[in-house]
Order: sequence, then C-alpha cells, then structure tokens
Amino acid sequence: MEIAKRKILLVDDNFELAEMMGLFLEHYGFQVSKAPNGQKAIEKLVKETPDLVLLDLNLPDMLGGRVLKRIKEINDDTAVIIITAYGGEQVAVELMKAGAEDFISKPFENEALLNSVKAVLKIRDARMEDKQQERLSSLEKFFPFLAHEIRNPLHAISGALAIIQRRSNLQDEVMAKSVKIIQEEVQHLSGFVQECLDFVRPVAKSRFVKVDVKEVVAVAINILSHIFEDLSKQIHIRQEAEPGIPKIFVNYEEIKQAFLNILKNSFEAMGEGGELVIQMRFKTEPAPGWAEVIFRDNGSGIKKENLRSLFQPFFTTKLRGTGLGLAICRRIIAERHNGKIEIESEEGKGTTIRVELPIPQTAGIPGGQSP
Ligand code: ADP
Ligand code: MG
Repeated sequence: MEIAKRKILLVDDNFELAEMMGLFLEHYGFQVSKAPNGQKAIEKLVKETPDLVLLDLNLPDMLGGRVLKRIKEINDDTAVIIITAYGGEQVAVELMKAGAEDFISKPFENEALLNSVKAVLKIRDARMEDKQQERLSSLEKFFPFLAHEIRNPLHAISGALAIIQRRSNLQDEVMAKSVKIIQEEVQHLSGFVQECLDFVRPVAKSRFVKVDVKEVVAVAINILSHIFEDLSKQIHIRQEAEPGIPKIFVNYEEIKQAFLNILKNSFEAMGEGGELVIQMRFKTEPAPGWAEVIFRDNGSGIKKENLRSLFQPFFTTKLRGTGLGLAICRRIIAERHNGKIEIESEEGKGTTIRVELPIPQTAGIPGGQSP
C-alpha cells in the first residue's frame, strides 16, 4: 500500500529560498506546497490541510503572528515552525507561547530544518493520538448510557407493537406495511445500539475457549442467512477449509461477531446477489502459526480513496450504516486477539478480507496443551 506523503506548506515571500527549501524537503519525501504571502497561505491551508506549516515572519501582507493565529483557528492540529530573520528570536519565542511548535533562524542549514520538521511532526502525531484516545474514552462512558436510554423505550415499542399485531387486522395492506416499517426501524435502532456497545465493551479474557475456526464461520453464516432471508437465496457461498487447521483459542462470541460484521458487509455489497468464497487455511509462518480466513466477495468493491478510512469508527458509505462494523472487527481481531485484518478491494469487482488469528503455541503439537 502506498503511504500518504506528509504535507508541508511553505510560507515565504523569498522565492529563491522557498524554492530551495521545497526541493530539499521533497527530496526527503515530503509533499510541499508554497505560498508567498499570508492571504495565499490561509487559502491553501483550508484547501490542502497540511500537516505542518513553515512560516516566515516577514510577509508582505500580514504579520506573522496573525497568520499563526489563523492557522491554529482553522485547524489546531496543524504544526507550525516559525522562520525568523537574524535577531528575531525574541518574537519567535513569543510565538511559541502562542502555539508555534518550534522556530529556526535564518540563515540555517538544511540539516537543522529537516531535524526540526521531523521532531515537530513527531510531536504533532503524538498529540493527535492522545486526542483520539480521549475521544474514544469519552465514547466508552457515553455509549452504555446511550444504550440504556434507547433500549428501554425500544422494548416498550416492540411490546406494544406485538399487541397491535395481535389485535388488528393485518389483511389491511396499509396497516401491515406500517407495522413492518416500525418493526424494521426498531430493529435498525437495536442494531445500532448493539454495535455501539460492541465497540466499547471491555475485554473478557475469561471467556476464551478452544474452538474450530470452521465452526465459527459456519455459525456466522447461519445467523446471516436469517438476517438476510431473501438476499441469501441469491448469494452463493462456497467454503473451502484446508484439513487439519489447529483450533484457535479465542473469545468465541467476539470472533463470531467479527466474522458476522465482515459477512454482513459482503452481503450488503452484493445487493443483487453474487458469490462469496470463504477460504480457511493453516499458516505455520511466522511462529506461532496462524489460522487464516479469507472472505472474498464479488460485490460493489471499495473506492480507492476510501480504503484508508475503513477501520475508522463511524466511517460509512451507506445511507443507514453506523460505520462501526469494521472498527469493531479491528478491535476484536487486532487489539484483543493479536491477530490481523486486511482489506483489498477494487471498485466494481469485489472485496477480499483477510483475517489471521494466532494459533496457541502448543496447539499444533499432538497432545499439546492449550493455555
Ligand atoms: P457500515 O457497514 O455501517 O457502513 P463498516 O465499518 O462495517 O460500517 O464498513 C465501513 C465501510 O466499508 C462501508 O460503508 C463500505 O463502504 C465499506 N465496506 C466494508 N466491507 C465492504 C465490502 N465487502 N464490500 C464493499 N464495501 C465494503
Ligand atoms: Mg458493516
């Protein structure tokens, strides 16, 4: 996979110097854009969302401090290195208090520039990771509360609906249709609440069991065929399991959930029917060995620009998606089971999801004891 280049915006009215710095930074793999004044800088900032701005203080149209303020207002995550003329350190220090991450004084060596850029990007990344963590932990508190508040009325609605169904004349088409809509919406909301909870649920190591990966796949497919009663008639599923795959040692419910999320997406991508192949293999390398499950559908596929966002919580391309399915998968498989999940896809052709789960060390040896 191609790694996205880090974006740097160079704000300097000295054309030659900017040109030189640009070439130098590009040589080190950065994507560089340039602005000769404050106004242009702000325009580019909004359009290009750079990771880092190199900001010369001597601009023809605006004071450096103003530009810095605007940069931070537009996107607080943008890192800024101030470039000062000889003797301007005093101002630079003031600007560091105002949010700049570093400063360098002209004339400077390229080496010094590069070091500063790298250091500042590192700080920025760490800061963004912290923010993400904070966001997640506030979700962790909020979701259970939300779930509780939504579930109670949902149960009441379902109960009342059952009474309506029993007591009224569902031969009446409009009535029957309305009841069906309520039912579907209730189900959608329950599903949403459940996904939110799955996403934040803490690890339960105690529930780890030895289980056959084929069995988990089979159970997930079975559940799925109930969820997509009609569609499942138009989707042909082929399961190919290599013989002798050792048992995995996992939280059964969680892995079932992960497989179910993957399969659901495949079904949703094959709305007109299609073919789903599930291959299961035993990979001995690298140690301790892995159970590999590959889900391959020939559905709608995924746009290239979306590939990198798939595992982000709330990323969805569906009208009624939650965008939590794959985020949950990653939590379960990678974070809680030390496994791997990867997606390859081509728009219009289909999608392949590869899951690897570690086999416990002793499982491959006949008579070996699992933890
Ligand atoms: P949701 O299903 O609620 O949208 P997910 O996290 O399960 O959320 O999936 C995120 C997005 O990834 C989907 O909206 C879809 O665009 C894409 N996606 C995932 N799996 C597939 C697949 N098998 N085929 C096509 N697109 C997929
Ligand atoms: Mg999904």
